[in-house]
Amino acid sequence: MSTPIHALLFLGFIESGWIAHGPESLPLALGTLLLTFAWTEIWHYASHLAMHHRWLHAIHREHHKSRLTTAWTSVSFSLGEKLIFSAGILGFIALASRLHPLSELGIFAYYILYFVTNTLGHANFEFREPEYRKSFMGRIFNSPAYHAMHHARYIRNYGLLTPWLDQLFGTCWEDESEVQTRAARSQPLTHLGERPAHKDMR
Ligand SMILES: [Zn+2]
Ligand SMILES: [Zn+2]
Repeated sequence: MSTPIHALLFLGFIESGWIAHGPESLPLALGTLLLTFAWTEIWHYASHLAMHHRWLHAIHREHHKSRLTTAWTSVSFSLGEKLIFSAGILGFIALASRLHPLSELGIFAYYILYFVTNTLGHANFEFREPEYRKSFMGRIFNSPAYHAMHHARYIRNYGLLTPWLDQLFGTCWEDESEVQTRAARSQPLTHLGERPAHKDMR
């Protein structure tokens, strides 16, 4: 049910005039896309980390019913979690649009990017090459294995599309690059507690 929630909130923020939008142009659309992307990384990291606190965890429990994810996990959230996620994105964009009108197309493009990458990120299939995290793209964007580790181990690797905030705040799994390479070589971890670089937790 998450996609209709995003669409309804997006429409509501646009139609109510809360998001001030200007004449569409490529630079405005790209700028809005980048702003939405950067803010969502921050908002998702902060709200996701907060929802791992026991006081807020009830909101996030639904999503963690999958220890091994499937593409369907990418749409398995409580109503509260989806409202927090999307209202946080659109609320900030509405405030930013008071400084400069933004592009509806840019926000829409971000949501398309989010739906595609989030589905791939939960597909439990490592489509990136081995040693991806050491490549140029891998230093910018997460791989499916990165988020699969969050579900398998329940903590750390909180980032959405990038690992930057996990790296900045020390919440990365230290063996995430190794696990990614093993998954890409069709030699994935064999049980949820396996820790290739460190002590086996089974
Ligand atoms: Zn989580
Ligand atoms: Zn997830």
